[in-house]
Amino acid sequence: MIDKTVFKDKKAVYYTLGCKLNFSETSTIERTLQEAGIRTARRGEKADICIINSCAVTQEAEKKCRQAIHKLVRQHPDAFVVVTGCYAQLSAPKLAQEAGVDVVLGIDRKGEILDFLGDLTKNEQGEWYTQPAKDVRNFVPSCSRGDRTRYFLKVQDGCDYFCTYCTIPFARGRSRNPKVESLVEQARGVASEGGKEIVITGVNIGDFGKSTGEDFTGLVKALDAVEGISRYRISSIEPNLITDEIIGYMAQSKRFMPHLHIPLQAGSDEVLKLMHRRYDTAFFAEKIATVRNILPDAFIGVDVIVGTRGESEELFEQAYNFIKGLDVSQLHVFSYSERPGTRALSIEGAVSPAEKHRRSRMLIELSEEKRIAFYERYIGKEAVVLFEKPRPSMPMGGFTANYIRVECEPVKEYVNTLVRVRLGGFNSDRSALTVDEIIGVEQ
Ligand code: SF4
Repeated sequence: MIDKTVFKDKKAVYYTLGCKLNFSETSTIERTLQEAGIRTARRGEKADICIINSCAVTQEAEKKCRQAIHKLVRQHPDAFVVVTGCYAQLSAPKLAQEAGVDVVLGIDRKGEILDFLGDLTKNEQGEWYTQPAKDVRNFVPSCSRGDRTRYFLKVQDGCDYFCTYCTIPFARGRSRNPKVESLVEQARGVASEGGKEIVITGVNIGDFGKSTGEDFTGLVKALDAVEGISRYRISSIEPNLITDEIIGYMAQSKRFMPHLHIPLQAGSDEVLKLMHRRYDTAFFAEKIATVRNILPDAFIGVDVIVGTRGESEELFEQAYNFIKGLDVSQLHVFSYSERPGTRALSIEGAVSPAEKHRRSRMLIELSEEKRIAFYERYIGKEAVVLFEKPRPSMPMGGFTANYIRVECEPVKEYVNTLVRVRLGGFNSDRSALTVDEIIGVEQ
């Protein structure tokens, strides 16, 4: 039994690395600690507890995690330090050795942090509690409120795909999910708190249903029926899991936004094979064409990894031309990072850091061309924007249904409100469109 009296007047700080899923989970951890009486420390305050939610997707992410631990231990020398997340799952004994770390928790224990705080007395030696990710069966739910406008609802965890470059299946375990009804319950909770938008997140969300005998289309339809939520966005979905049925359903839904994020990873069939991805470029191009045909205004974001082993200059050129020809809205470009335990390490043909840098620069420039061209299509057009709370002395911002960033002078009444506007030209750094005319609040 946890003695919550030890938490009275205690303060915690949180540090998160990595994906939307990690941020969603940290926000849920923070809420759990707040409900136990542990408030979040204000800037400059000394904390009694430090929570680090780590990432292991690249070597760089792991290094940043160790740097974060060192910094937090320096800033809060008496605090009880907990490290969790993917890096903790993969390297618990090592992280438990880091100076100042008290407990390292595996992915299955993320929801039980309170049980490991004890009376906050620091441990002589860091302790760690993990089990092999492949044996993890429990699903740790999380639904975070980002800025009270957009919530991140975790619907699935883990992955069974084992793409050769990826460490996530080793860090997050097998694909698993809760029942649709429990997610509908959480969406109702968001609506009751006044939340307008839910981003559906996970690791391989198209694979939803594996552990409950349900499917992703069924989840989409059930969430779509929840009163009070104006918008849903699908955070990322594998190309082979976006069925025509889902695309067709999105087209007739008022709540599922015309916005898709689809990992391509490589633009040549040879490299896709080396990655053990489950499609080829012809399939991917056809999928984009289908989306464009059924959802003509859709914002389509695409993930690409540059410099994986075996990606020769010639294959990269092929990839560049393939991607250039796709009618998509933006690219998310990642540089390949060697991950321990992944099968990619046995592939010949490592790419030098300088060459990776050259390739990612080329794709980032191409991405900007595509984003600007996509935004330009909507200048002068009407759109409905969900405005967010502006930061002090900053313009008010928000997104259209098809994920165009819009900025205007702050208007308090429009925060967390759907407002119909006529879109103007670009703002000064071309990161957003401006508002030419406010037409009115959308009912
Ligand atoms: S689908 Fe592939 S890249 Fe994505 S999490 Fe699973 S193994 Fe990693």
